Amino acid sequence: MKKVRYVLLAACGTLLFACCGFFAYQCWDLSHQYQALEAEALALRDDNSNLKEDQSKLNAELADSAAQLEEKEKYVAGQEAYISELSGQIGSISEGTGDDDSAQGADESPEGGSGADLGSSSGSSLPSDAYPNLYAEGCSPKDSKKVVYLTFDDGPSSLTPQVLDLLDRYNAKATFFVVCKNNEEYAKYLPQIVERGHTLALHSYSHNYNTIYASKDAFLDDYEKVYDWVVENTGYTPSLFRFPGGSNNGSSYVVNGIIEEMERRGFQYFDWNVSSGDGSNLTTTENIIDNICKNVGNAKNPVVLMHDGSGKNATLAALPTVLEYLADNGYEFRSLDKSAEPVHYR
Ligand SMILES: [Zn+2]
Repeated sequence: MKKVRYVLLAACGTLLFACCGFFAYQCWDLSHQYQALEAEALALRDDNSNLKEDQSKLNAELADSAAQLEEKEKYVAGQEAYISELSGQIGSISEGTGDDDSAQGADESPEGGSGADLGSSSGSSLPSDAYPNLYAEGCSPKDSKKVVYLTFDDGPSSLTPQVLDLLDRYNAKATFFVVCKNNEEYAKYLPQIVERGHTLALHSYSHNYNTIYASKDAFLDDYEKVYDWVVENTGYTPSLFRFPGGSNNGSSYVVNGIIEEMERRGFQYFDWNVSSGDGSNLTTTENIIDNICKNVGNAKNPVVLMHDGSGKNATLAALPTVLEYLADNGYEFRSLDKSAEPVHYR
């Protein structure tokens, strides 16, 4: 009996020992599993952090690409308009009628004015009713008060005093983007532009595309010369400019650099949104009137490109009718300043 009691006691002890061993093993195992899970959680947290960082980088790259795409689209749209206008110019030349005109490059003579200077007598006997019915068809009168910005490039020339007289007749203010080379003898008209309430603005010294668009520094050198010429002759310090051929001329890289530097110096540039088509000397007076009166209503704040350089007699002849038409249709003639809404091709 006593022996049986010992056996039972030993069996119980063995069982208890086995249970304790099993329990200890389970605790050890659970502890290892917990550590493994904790390490896995840390790794996942790191992965999540890396993914967020990658996503942030991708978002930034995406935004950058979208901005570049928008800029490219704007540039392409400008180039398409340029090509379209040039096609019109080529058509005009080939037909000899000047039906349409370039909005940019071909409007501008690379040498700062082309064609013979026919002298001041050419416009002195202009009848103001020379073209009374030219805009009767296709142009409907507008009632509301509107603003138009007439601009004249490539002067001054012998035609400039007559342009100024016609503008005075309509109490019209305009903007003159002047060129120095080949126009030195007409510098005496520069002060009149200012004194008669117009904006005197810069265009170029040489107006030679190959020179001025060769590099940013080449453009700025040319610009400083025309700036000095204007200041020396007027005492007036201009703050507006226009690229010869418009801001879509020259390489994008060069022009963008010029814009940045010129704006840093306090200058603002203006392109145009209505072309008179008088860049070609083949364009007739009738074409110029037609181009302006048919298109001026399509622009919110029309900036009209014309030229008062040597040989632009067709423009001078068109001006009375243009002024009459615009005045009759409720337009107020203003000169450009920095408060005017910019017209930019880029
Ligand atoms: Zn020009």
